[in-house]
Amino acid sequence: MCEIDLNSNKLEYIVSACLAGEKCSYDGRDRLNDEVFKLAAEGRAIALCPEVMGGLPVPRTLSEIPGGDGAGVLAGTIRILNKDGEDVTEAFIKGAERFLEVAKTHGIKKAIMKAKSPSCGVGLIYDGSFSKRLIKGDGVTAALLKREGIEVEAR
Ligand code: SF4
Repeated sequence: MCEIDLNSNKLEYIVSACLAGEKCSYDGRDRLNDEVFKLAAEGRAIALCPEVMGGLPVPRTLSEIPGGDGAGVLAGTIRILNKDGEDVTEAFIKGAERFLEVAKTHGIKKAIMKAKSPSCGVGLIYDGSFSKRLIKGDGVTAALLKREGIEVEAR
């Protein structure tokens, strides 16, 4: 993860680690966003990956949420499957809870999350068919952050 001072009183954001340059995406690559990288480098953002926090490896098999969104997963009505058909729901939920816990510990009220991800996506996510089709909804971590009153935006 990005090196930052966790005691910094400058912390304003929690962000998706891949946007800050961490090579934690399912394909072992980053999704670098210059604005988010700068926030982390300045000590204004803590950068973490919920899927890694939930215990999933890098690289890992791509996952999507079939027939619903992160709110449905948190409600216990939808399971998350990876492309091999394995149920990875528990890892996604555990990662979301740990991500939220860090935000709360540091009193962070704003998040910048990677668009379209089944964990981090905000407003739009892939539909579970692994065909790049998008549906309205949030990823699991984004849904949990919103539920807890944290302002979430996507990049
Ligand atoms: Fe990036 Fe979020 Fe996926 Fe981790 S879970 S690689 S932070 S989009």
